[in-house]
Amino acid sequence: MYIVFEGIDGAGKSTQIKMLKEWLEANGFRVETLVEPTDSEIGKLIREMLQRPDAETDKLQKTLGLLFAADRMLIMDKLEDESKIIISDRSFISSLAYQEPAEWIEELNKYAKKPDLLLLLDLDSKTSVARTDGKDTFENEEYLTKVRENYLKLAENYTCEIIDASNGINKMSSDIKKAVAPYLGICPDCVL
Ligand code: ADP
Ligand code: MG
Repeated sequence: MYIVFEGIDGAGKSTQIKMLKEWLEANGFRVETLVEPTDSEIGKLIREMLQRPDAETDKLQKTLGLLFAADRMLIMDKLEDESKIIISDRSFISSLAYQEPAEWIEELNKYAKKPDLLLLLDLDSKTSVARTDGKDTFENEEYLTKVRENYLKLAENYTCEIIDASNGINKMSSDIKKAVAPYLGICPDCVL
């Protein structure tokens, strides 16, 4: 099973993936976690380019779109491993939510693997900026509001559970376990 976590920075992806992994392992499942961008050479380049002052320009956005798609290709085989639950921190759906133009990004990611389950951690941009201390200056509130809207629209195209990320960490974790349980044959009422 391929589970993807999406949501803007500060939504709690890293926190919740760790908690879900521990819970699934305690329930006897084998779990592997992935993060996009990866730690490949292309992933490193992406992280560097995201810090550039001109990262928002059309030229850089297109270049980033290509790099993200290329970085993703490098982990394609890992997503096919059916002996484990693969949990990914972001996916091609991030590209669709963050980058433009939409048709072009869709074309680039045409062959990217669709998640069996998408967990969208839905958060308002104000709380996002507060939780991340606004460390990513190019991710301003206005842009993040647009990304959040994009995510909610995109969610309609996938098997998706929307998690209210304005809740506390433990409430979110319990909502996520309840959302995941039926897909793995775990009784949802048995989840605390
Ligand atoms: P992401 O990976 O989506 O960017 P993180 O899990 O790294 O989010 O969380 C970002 C920051 O917000 C961290 O400092 C984390 O401790 C805090 N945080 C995460 N989830 C919550 C929550 N539900 N309520 C309040 N703070 C949170
Ligand atoms: Mg994170």
